[in-house]
Amino acid sequence: MHAILHDHPLDSLNTFRIPARARHYLRVDGAEQLAALRADPGLAALPRLVLGGGSNMLFTRDVDGVVLHMTGLGKEVLGEHEGKILVRAQAGENWHAFVQWTLAQGLGGLENLSLIPGTVGAAPIQNVGAYGTETRDVFHCLSAFDMASGEVLTLDAAACRFAYRDSVFKHAEGRALVVLDVTFALPATWSPNLRYAELARAVEEAGLAAPTPQDVGRTVEAIRRRKLPDPQEIGNAGSFFKNPVVSQEHCARLLVEFPNLVHHAQADGSEKLAAGWLIDQCGWKGRSLGRAGVYPKQALVLVNLGGATGDEVVRLARAIQADVKARYGVELEPEPVFI
Ligand SMILES: Cc1cc2nc3c(=O)[nH]c(=O)nc-3n(C[C@H](O)[C@H](O)[C@H](O)COP(=O)(O)OP(=O)(O)OC[C@H]3O[C@@H](n4cnc5c(N)ncnc54)[C@H](O)[C@@H]3O)c2cc1C
Repeated sequence: MHAILHDHPLDSLNTFRIPARARHYLRVDGAEQLAALRADPGLAALPRLVLGGGSNMLFTRDVDGVVLHMTGLGKEVLGEHEGKILVRAQAGENWHAFVQWTLAQGLGGLENLSLIPGTVGAAPIQNVGAYGTETRDVFHCLSAFDMASGEVLTLDAAACRFAYRDSVFKHAEGRALVVLDVTFALPATWSPNLRYAELARAVEEAGLAAPTPQDVGRTVEAIRRRKLPDPQEIGNAGSFFKNPVVSQEHCARLLVEFPNLVHHAQADGSEKLAAGWLIDQCGWKGRSLGRAGVYPKQALVLVNLGGATGDEVVRLARAIQADVKARYGVELEPEPVFI
């Protein structure tokens, strides 16, 4: 087992760059370390926080327990299975580097998810998605260590209960599970997924009549670089709010008063609204509260303007939520995990 470190700084381990410390900190490369932790009476009883790349977390306090930093590396092509190519990666692999690696192997399927920060092990947690593809679309199975039983379990897509930015791991039944590795099923015969209008337009404008997976990946990267702040330069956790889903009736009422309302009909008849548009309309784009601000190019992204605390970001988020609720009667739910 790696050495347990104490009073360990987490500032550089979260993309918001919020100062926080862990009372205990352990690098985890595999199931053996988790089994050893479980067997240690002093450590087993402590609260745990599983940490990947810290790109979907907001620290509002120090962690009075043990941080399990997932650092296991390794990736391999497993072979063909029912018309798909199975590819497995360890939880600590950097997500974007893994996507690039699959593309370099000549395998398409993950290109729409290019440039998302974080680790492979975290991708199933909120069913990471972008530009018309979600983790569940390319997921085969994962291995997870159950801190409750000490067993290593294999979960298929049904067991993961994927939904929009959600999975079993965010609920009581899945909270004891630590993802060790993830296996993806990539298409043996690839065709581009250009359902997302902005991506389709960008591919067309680039004159890519028959785009390759790499072409699509590069196009996604270019769009993201234009719109989103680089966490290396300005602290943030990507989209700060989920896109709210409302009933058809609620949406129809809003359209009477706000004819430009951005909305997308869902298969179940509900309507998904664009959280960024709602925030922008409330006049928040580019504004700040203390050292926390709303990114001028994308109202859905809250940023650390330099030296912000987690509480300052929360204060800004609450003010935005209150304005959107007052104007549209819509509750905005934060996407990052508040610690
Ligand atoms: C600039 C930017 C852009 C982004 N764009 C997108 C986007 O387009 N789409 C999108 O969906 N997200 C996006 N995100 C959010 C984020 O990148 C993803 O949610 C990513 O999967 C988080 O990975 P991570 O390793 O950093 O997880 P962390 O932030 O470390 O953890 C997130 C949650 O997952 C849990 N967790 C992490 N690893 C494991 C594991 N191995 N086992 C069990 N639980 C685990 C943590 O306990 C925590 O609850 C963006 C973030 C940034 C900063």
